[in-house]
Amino acid sequence: MNDSLKHLGKRRQLIELLRTKGISDETVLEAMLKIPRHLFLNSSFEDFAYEDKAFPIAAGQTISQPYTVAFQSQLLQVKPEEKILEIGTGSGYQTAVLCAMGAKVYSVERQVDLFKQTSLLLPKLNIRPKHLSFGDGYKGLPTFAPFDKIIVTAGAPVVPNALLSQLKIGGRLVIPVGVNDQIMTLYIRQTELRFEKHEFGNFRFVPLLENKS
Ligand code: SAH
Repeated sequence: MNDSLKHLGKRRQLIELLRTKGISDETVLEAMLKIPRHLFLNSSFEDFAYEDKAFPIAAGQTISQPYTVAFQSQLLQVKPEEKILEIGTGSGYQTAVLCAMGAKVYSVERQVDLFKQTSLLLPKLNIRPKHLSFGDGYKGLPTFAPFDKIIVTAGAPVVPNALLSQLKIGGRLVIPVGVNDQIMTLYIRQTELRFEKHEFGNFRFVPLLENKS
């Protein structure tokens, strides 16, 4: 678990690249400067970890591109101590970035191998989400609801109602919606029944899978 000055130098370059791509939330950039992305990847990709690219992880899944992580984190407008639900723990990189921003993170993953692997990795890096669970993110996490913010890191063919209903009033849900590619979508809960919707361009994610093992 080695994080060297060389890695830090590469992270600084990545942060500057993210700025040129329009990421301006300093708390997001600071968190991404702290988290050693190379430790979330298979060691054969270590040399490329600070390129702005997605890479394969276990179980046919991917670690999201740094720009995507930054973009979604920025849309969430994370504040310290907020309760955040993440759907799709995957490598745990996005989880780690949210923890570094001071959030209380609850994350759900439906691939058991990834759930186990990431549950072991995060404590080794001294990253402590509130709760990691193995299960179906379409259902959210009713036991711990409501949440200040919810982030979905897989492409959702539809917006799960469970997620909308587990959001606090004033809360934000950031979710990529679509089948082949996805439109990054932000829902802000205005009242019990009313949600404001904003759309932000196209992204490509692995699918949010339903009822499959
Ligand atoms: N945030 C992760 C992204 C991983 S890719 C990272 O940066 O590494 C998306 C993840 O969503 C995959 O790990 C996939 O297994 C998971 N996923 C897909 N469908 C899901 C569902 N219904 N519930 C929870 N997780 C799901």
